[in-house]
Amino acid sequence: MTKQDENTFDAVIVGAGFAGMYMLYRLRQLGMSAIVIEAGDDVGGTWYWNRYPGARCDVPTMEYSFGFSKELEQEWRWSETMSAQPEILEYANHVADIFDLRSGMHFNRRVTDAKYDEQTCRWRVSTDQGEHYHASFCIMATGCLSVPHTPEIDGQSDFAGEIYHTGRWPKEGVDLSGKRVGIIGTGSSAVQAIPVIAETAAELTIFQRTPGYTFPANNKPLGAKQEKRYKESYPEVREMQRNSPAGISNFGMQQPKSGKPAPLKSILETSHEERQAALEKSGFGVFRVYNDVYTDLQANEVACELYRDLVKQLVNDPQVAETLSPKGYPIGCKRQVFDTNFYETFNLDHVKLVDLQQSGIDIITAKALHTTQAEYGLDVLIYATGFDAMTGALNQINIEGRHAKRLKDKWQDGPRAYLGLQIHGYPNLFTITGPGSPSVLSNMLVSIEQHVEWISDCMTHMQENQYTEIEAELAAEDEWVEHVSQVGKGTMLQAPNCNSWYLGANIEGKPRVFMPYVGGVGRYRRKCEEVVANDYQGFSLLKT
Ligand code: FAD
Ligand code: NAP
Repeated sequence: MTKQDENTFDAVIVGAGFAGMYMLYRLRQLGMSAIVIEAGDDVGGTWYWNRYPGARCDVPTMEYSFGFSKELEQEWRWSETMSAQPEILEYANHVADIFDLRSGMHFNRRVTDAKYDEQTCRWRVSTDQGEHYHASFCIMATGCLSVPHTPEIDGQSDFAGEIYHTGRWPKEGVDLSGKRVGIIGTGSSAVQAIPVIAETAAELTIFQRTPGYTFPANNKPLGAKQEKRYKESYPEVREMQRNSPAGISNFGMQQPKSGKPAPLKSILETSHEERQAALEKSGFGVFRVYNDVYTDLQANEVACELYRDLVKQLVNDPQVAETLSPKGYPIGCKRQVFDTNFYETFNLDHVKLVDLQQSGIDIITAKALHTTQAEYGLDVLIYATGFDAMTGALNQINIEGRHAKRLKDKWQDGPRAYLGLQIHGYPNLFTITGPGSPSVLSNMLVSIEQHVEWISDCMTHMQENQYTEIEAELAAEDEWVEHVSQVGKGTMLQAPNCNSWYLGANIEGKPRVFMPYVGGVGRYRRKCEEVVANDYQGFSLLKT
């Protein structure tokens, strides 16, 4: 057997997060040969890399879990309603153990190139270890939030203390006790990390550029009754998830309420006094009382005022409350942030907030971060500055399709894909939760399962019918890209002044294109099923 034969598979899968894990499992079940290549030294993806203090899921973990195995679903026990990173990573390890997934995985190597050979209809996938893998299919399970973004700040390399990114937190953990810690950012990662870091750090300084809207996570230990209800109803729960807008049924979280729920009303049609009374009664739940907050910009601004009132109630120092109050963009424009005691943390004496809108970061020196107005001495600097989302990991790989055309070039004005599954010009290449699918707008486990199942069914169909090549048609891709763009219009996600990573706005020079599909998990699933029912409408299937 030659070296090439040894490294030849039906499919090469890049990435050992939940997507790569399930893809491998599924192809093995179908009797196909596959290998997973992963940059990290074990499974888990997001939950392998993001070990920062406070990291946890923000959807119920009973639902952020695989539904493909009844046994797994029944045997696994989550300890909290929204479990923390160590438990989710433990779950990933458990899945890898029980299905013997690691035997089909090569760790500690990064895929650098993937090139399609039109003569043989095969992909040649190369790693930074100098290896080459050959396969009929190349499946990118590279993650939507797997490439950390670290802004370039002058003098960064001169810093004598410790520097970390939340998305690359060391495996062995970091002892922050007694240290002066600085954190840049107030997105989801920072909002989770700040209250937990404040418990041990001697001083914590938060460098905030844009204040966000964050809502209480209301996480709690998972009750035995709730767990039982879920487990008894899993088939129904999974069905609800699959047909829901965001892949969440929230089945077990809804407590039966006595009496009829109050009817929804327009926030614009209520008086200031009524709104204040509602705020008093419902706290952060107030936004659910109205039906126009997420559909009407004017209504949204009224809701934003209420939100700012809430911040004032929670933060003792009026100046700090003012700095933490988001303004100038709507609630619902960015990925929803959930927190536990975020605002309360700013009432602690050793926690400081620096408003970068007043004085931006100037330079980092050996012992301090300097803004244009002051110097902040630090022992540890944490970047909670996000990710090059959705396209980052794919663009880091030199992907060459037909006529050696580079994907990066095709996507220079933003990603274009059919259903977020395939790209015209790149036959037999699939992307799991790629741009143009519900992906990051959903409970990702639901979207991952749907894509993995669609791809494996497609590969089976090809094998059974002796097809060697599948490729998204250009017209179908164009039409879908246009549809994705249209569906997003008019939502808060694409409101004026909305600068989110969904649009690529967090990365300098990145084309501003709204990347995920807003139409919802259920609607999207039906579209994918319809495409199959219509003989893979929009795809060319070839026999060579
Ligand atoms: P990932 O888990 O990102 O795995 C991709 C893997 O591919 C990584 O291990 C990476 O190392 C590897 N890889 C990438 N490029 C290469 C290469 N060139 N060569 C080799 N290996 C490569 N989603 C939710 O639905 N609910 C949540 O509550 C939630 N919380 C989150 C919290 C955090 C902190 C973050 C960052 C994301 C969160 N997400 C959440 C989104 C999360 O990314 C997905 O839920 C899911 O874990 C993605 O799985 P994946 O396998 O698609 O990608
Ligand atoms: P993020 O939402 O992109 O937030 C990054 C933060 O860093 C923002 O506050 C941003 O400010 C700031 N920042 C970036 N560059 C900066 C610079 N040069 N100077 C100053 N500040 C800068 O990233 P994230 O918090 O890592 O979250 C990313 C996504 O991961 C989330 O939206 C979510 O999908 C997922 N996630 C989920 C959870 C969860 O609760 N389950 C937790 C963590 C992450 P600006 O806003 O001004 O750009």
